[in-house]
Amino acid sequence: MRYKNTYVNLDTRLYHEQPPTSLDNPRAGHFNTYVAQQLGWSDDDDLMSNWVEILAGQYVPADFKPLAMAYAGHQFGQWAGQLGDGRGLLMAQVLDQDNQPKDLHLKGAGLTPYSRMGDGRAVLRSTIREYLCGHALTQLGIASSNALGFVVSDTRVRRERIEAGAALMRVADSHIRLGHVEWIASFAPDVLGEFTDYMIDTYYPECRDSETPVLAFLTSVVEHTARMIADWQLIGFAHGVMNTDNLSITGSTLDFGPFGFMERFNPAWINNHSDHTGRYAYQNQPAIGHWNLNVWLPHFMRLPGVTRETLAECLAPYEATFMQHYQQGLCRKLGLPHESESLRLAFEWLTLLEDNVLDYTNSFRALLGLVAPDDHPYEKKLLSVLTTELNTEASLVWQEWSTRYLAQIEQQPREEAILSMQTSNPVYVLRNSMAQRAITAAEQGQFEEVDRVFRLLSHPYTVQDIATELDSAAPAPDVAQMPISCSS
Ligand code: AMP
Ligand code: MG
Repeated sequence: MRYKNTYVNLDTRLYHEQPPTSLDNPRAGHFNTYVAQQLGWSDDDDLMSNWVEILAGQYVPADFKPLAMAYAGHQFGQWAGQLGDGRGLLMAQVLDQDNQPKDLHLKGAGLTPYSRMGDGRAVLRSTIREYLCGHALTQLGIASSNALGFVVSDTRVRRERIEAGAALMRVADSHIRLGHVEWIASFAPDVLGEFTDYMIDTYYPECRDSETPVLAFLTSVVEHTARMIADWQLIGFAHGVMNTDNLSITGSTLDFGPFGFMERFNPAWINNHSDHTGRYAYQNQPAIGHWNLNVWLPHFMRLPGVTRETLAECLAPYEATFMQHYQQGLCRKLGLPHESESLRLAFEWLTLLEDNVLDYTNSFRALLGLVAPDDHPYEKKLLSVLTTELNTEASLVWQEWSTRYLAQIEQQPREEAILSMQTSNPVYVLRNSMAQRAITAAEQGQFEEVDRVFRLLSHPYTVQDIATELDSAAPAPDVAQMPISCSS
């Protein structure tokens, strides 16, 4: 059997086995052939020909073992107690084409013992946002959950209005969140040792080679998290709800709610409508990652050999890992080597973007129009938009900066600089307005726009014919980026 669910071998307090509650009259929304291929689904007729029924919870393949997992969490800095899979089920685990573990998790699968006040369902708009964002981040090269596809149905779901119920088959390397350990510490502390062994053996087997596997594992989680957040900052991604129940132990982006991609550059930007204090503002993400790990790690002091001092050593690499990855990435975005003069230029550049509220994605990409205009007509156009948005004073700053920048570029092998800029500055990210247009059409039963955006985001670093001007249009500078509501 290719599919299994090793989670059922763990202590039964950790989950609740149950089938999904099926959706009425399900229809295909979109199917991700990249993920299907990665999972080897293309060769499996039973799964391929029944994907709509599987996602709708109408058909559970024989070797799937659906279950809801218990977890807890800190939400907006407060202990929230037991949470758990309130509307999702871990359906199965499988080794993908690269022999890497992948979870299939059905989101929108109905009530579970962890549903609390919720209805166990997901609506179409949030399903589409999650579907497109997982794809966008994956294709951008950022560690993230993704999805096999989604379906829409006639099941009615009440939010501010009645909406169509939908379901998404999320595919991630793991669905174990920091909050799983927080749940165990509160409700079943005796299983922490067994659970830690499971996390190491399944997701960090290389840590078994260490003399202190638990500490090696904890250090790896810290480093993976720091790298993921550095990638978010570089691409301009704001997760929006960095609660401990939304952070994976593998350092892969998980749980897309009120996320957003930065448009007009503002480090203090808050994308989550409910985040009144800006706890999860873009610029706070690195510190919040640290905060989350810092509340998570002490639970492991229950295990032998783990002390406050050894935990401090596990957490210590966070800042250096983040900085190294972020600074290296910034230099790559400018096509420059990682050294102090490049960093000076990079931070001056970010200040220029901030002072003039320029579009983050387009401005970085526009630099190719400066460095190699002949080969980059699209970027040349972006550059002319950028310069028209500068007032007289800012134009002088730009001229002075770009002269120094070009001088620095001249000292590098040109082809290398261009390649590094082309592969780290996307042409397309999932702007809120793009997602919204796809959602509006899908709510009328038209999925062509979801498909077009999906195809566009399949190659985010390449200028494409299927793009329209709207796909890369920044909102007006005086219009704040629309925050996204949590009701999903
Ligand atoms: P989220 O805000 O999506 O990260 O969810 C936080 C917690 O609320 C998790 O335990 C979810 O399973 C649960 N939850 C969110 N929406 C629903 C819903 N519609 N029905 C049941 N549980 C939900
Ligand atoms: Mg969540």
